[in-house]
Amino acid sequence: MSQQTHERYVELVNLKLREADELFGTRLHGTVKVTFDGRGGICGKATVNRRGLVPQLSFIVNPEALEQDWNDMVDDTIPHEIAHLVNFTLPRTGKNHDRGWKRTCQALGGTGTRTAKQGNYNLTPARVSTNHRYMLASGTEHHLGPRRHAKLQKGTDKYSVSSTREPILASQYIGPVTPPKLNTIKHAKAKPLPVRGGKRTKTSIVRDLVMRWMTEGQTPESILTNPAHIDKVRVEAGYPHNSIAKSSLKHNVEKILAEQ
Ligand SMILES: [Zn+2]
Repeated sequence: MSQQTHERYVELVNLKLREADELFGTRLHGTVKVTFDGRGGICGKATVNRRGLVPQLSFIVNPEALEQDWNDMVDDTIPHEIAHLVNFTLPRTGKNHDRGWKRTCQALGGTGTRTAKQGNYNLTPARVSTNHRYMLASGTEHHLGPRRHAKLQKGTDKYSVSSTREPILASQYIGPVTPPKLNTIKHAKAKPLPVRGGKRTKTSIVRDLVMRWMTEGQTPESILTNPAHIDKVRVEAGYPHNSIAKSSLKHNVEKILAEQ
């Protein structure tokens, strides 16, 4: 991917930012950082960092997507991501992929779809973690994430099932989980950072985790059956029990699938 291609893309982003400024009265042009370090199964991503005095807006491009479908990256990804930037700046215009966002995106010449309807991509998914199956003494199958699996096999840590306290033994290992092939999100475009009074909601935390796992190429089934994921949801969203974390995880996976 040549420097020239990147420069040309930045030019086109800047043109569209000017257009957005004229349409919405924003002052995006000259304040948005465009980078080419996007990875995983996404074409691009719009982010806002509100930690500084002035929010820093970024437009992150996946260089692999640029190589695979320049036209869609220009015609649809630019309006798609800039619509998110407009929404970040003017919250009344829309949020996430709601109707307001769609209107904003279409006003900028985009399709208003969250997935690449016309794009032709085959993007490399980000790291896909392999989970490992254990057949416990009680006859139930339990899955461990790659880190815990490695530690258990090395004997550097001990684990048990959190709900039943049944021990998980290294010798009970029966093999890796074979990921079923369906419903992976090939093209989850932007991941806005939802902010509510400076504090993120539980739903937005769980949703972001699910989106991340899906864009990494994990299937809904593997996400829902991964005990490490349920633990992570409980800890990050601050749920008191794994059972609540699990139902929240299920709810969010279903919601995201319904949006596709
Ligand atoms: Zn988006």
